[in-house]
Amino acid sequence: MKLILLGAPGAGKGTQAEILSEKLNIPTISTGNILRAAVKNGTPTGLKAKEFMDAGKLVPDEVIIGIIHERLAEPDCSNGYILDGVPRTVAQAEAIEKAGIIFDAVVSIEISDDEIINRMGGRRVCESCGSSYHVKAAPPKRDGICDNCNGKLIQRKDDAPETVKARLEVYHKETEPLKDFYAERGLLKSVENSGIAETTERILSVLGK
Ligand code: AMP
Repeated sequence: MKLILLGAPGAGKGTQAEILSEKLNIPTISTGNILRAAVKNGTPTGLKAKEFMDAGKLVPDEVIIGIIHERLAEPDCSNGYILDGVPRTVAQAEAIEKAGIIFDAVVSIEISDDEIINRMGGRRVCESCGSSYHVKAAPPKRDGICDNCNGKLIQRKDDAPETVKARLEVYHKETEPLKDFYAERGLLKSVENSGIAETTERILSVLGK
């Protein structure tokens, strides 16, 4: 199963990707997590990406395309994967298509901007492994500590309200056109965000699982 999860920032892509990854036994590839690790480790990619990320802007396509080529060539991707947060522009989608990478489905998680702005303040992520939580909707077992790796949970800088608004604008302008791109290829399935468990059920159902 080769799957793309589309959706606005905060739509629940990361959470669904983690659940589906376990259920379908395939890895999740999140460019956001890869970039945050690069920033934390001070790699050349991280140094390039940081200012774009902090401002809620997209990292240049060529950086992302390089990351994806490298990651998809790793052996754990041979049985399939879930792409979370990539592609984010038509240029990225075209580059992936040009590389001969094809998908079984593209699932767009739908949610209103207002709901996203309300929810983002509660999001927490693990600074070590990138797992995501929500203080109300999906709290960790122990306050401030990751269930998966005992790492520290933090609020992302780019979850600040002004940055969330900038990221939503970028989403509508740059990423939403991908829905038409994949609808034209007969791959697009849309699923309303309707709570974590229900959304997973709906995604599995549109995938015929
Ligand atoms: P995310 O965790 O997916 O919300 O990504 C966090 C930030 O990383 C985004 O706001 C962008 O600055 C950057 N980023 C992640 N994935 C991509 C991508 N596919 N294209 C461009 N920028 C990206």
